[in-house]
Amino acid sequence: MSTNITKADTVIRNANVITLDPNLPRAQAVAMSNGRFIGLGSNEDVETFIGPNVKVMDLTGSTVLPGFIDAHIHVLNSGIRHVMAADCDLPSIAAIQTALRERVETTAPGQWVQGFKYDDTKTAENRSIFREELDAVSTFHPIMVSHRAGHIYYLNSMALELAGFDRDTPDPFGGRIGRDPDSGELNGIVYERAIERVRFELIPSDTPEIRREGLRTICRMLTQAGLTSVHDARVVRDEFVTYQEGRDAGDLSLRVYALMYHPHFRSLQEAWLKTGFGDDMLRLGGIKMVADGAIAARTAYLSEPYVGSDCDHGILAMSAEEIEENVMEMHRAGFQVCIHANGDLAIDMVLNAYEKAQAADPRPNPRHRIEHCTLVNPDILTKMHRLGTIATPFCTYVYHHGEKMPFYGEERLQWMFAQRSFLDYGVVGTGATDYPPGPFEPLLGIQSCVTRTDSRGQ
Ligand SMILES: [Zn+2]
Repeated sequence: MSTNITKADTVIRNANVITLDPNLPRAQAVAMSNGRFIGLGSNEDVETFIGPNVKVMDLTGSTVLPGFIDAHIHVLNSGIRHVMAADCDLPSIAAIQTALRERVETTAPGQWVQGFKYDDTKTAENRSIFREELDAVSTFHPIMVSHRAGHIYYLNSMALELAGFDRDTPDPFGGRIGRDPDSGELNGIVYERAIERVRFELIPSDTPEIRREGLRTICRMLTQAGLTSVHDARVVRDEFVTYQEGRDAGDLSLRVYALMYHPHFRSLQEAWLKTGFGDDMLRLGGIKMVADGAIAARTAYLSEPYVGSDCDHGILAMSAEEIEENVMEMHRAGFQVCIHANGDLAIDMVLNAYEKAQAADPRPNPRHRIEHCTLVNPDILTKMHRLGTIATPFCTYVYHHGEKMPFYGEERLQWMFAQRSFLDYGVVGTGATDYPPGPFEPLLGIQSCVTRTDSRGQ
């Protein structure tokens, strides 16, 4: 035996190791040193790596998979929300009211009470929760519940009043204030950008302590599911600080690629930073913007209207000019641009902007991305291949949100969540759950992509 073989710090034996290496697809044992694989093969093959103080794990036949990467997930923000808001992924409106009441009991009157992960199609009632139902929880606390898919919010009367909304308030650009179709009274449902003042001005921001607690919470949850690397799909300045603190304190068990929220672009640029800065655990990714609405919320911006309507094409959150100006600047500054676009019309607008930026200022492999990139067609796919644009389609949606999809119609569904089509057209498509909107378990994602079957078997 040669004396210069690196000794492992950890050896795993008696395992069913799935390597994803076509030359050696299965193995029985692996040896690791300092977070890197240094040996792979049979139990005998890794014997040579075992020295003193090596942790040897006998897995008695259990399967070992490579760590999973989620290319679009709301990591720290959902950790913070698990700390600050009631989890409303519950089977009935009564159960949601109970969960919110528990928060009310520990919250001073006048202070905000929040809920998240509410899903209108996952409760027994199979409908939206209304203002009166939130008023029944409290009229002394402003309440905001967010939809699991984001983009739609539910307010009680006190919250509507604080937001300055009444029956005469016009819908703001890029948003909508829900009204009862008969009386015209506000029903408590607020869409897209109409919620911005509530979320960013009225609700008090989190604290450094809450953010650190959120980081520990979400790292625990995701690591247990087999994730080792995540692209946090919207990071604000304070969160980036928390990531750095967590890394220094040893709380960060995931490798994080941070897509920075677009209002931070200027300061990043002024600090001479660009995409790629960082280290193995924490890296500055692209700049994140949002061009349209959401799939599960039925607000994606589509070329053909939603089933059951002759004029509802969804919601566009940025104009074509706004997209082009921003993309040009970020592209020139050396950033990867990551724009949320679900509907085919929104995707097309984003691709046009990427094409113009690349034509004006060619950069080798800028790796611009379309976040979600849900409804595609051959033209879009061909263009994406030509531009080298990356797609981060939802991988758990077909299974988890399948019951919402009839709004898109059979024909359109063939071109949604098109993992196979991305491969066929030579487009890089990633695995991405967008948690909290979709469940984060990677194996559920693979099942959903392969079977394209929802939880009811349809
Ligand atoms: Zn997202």
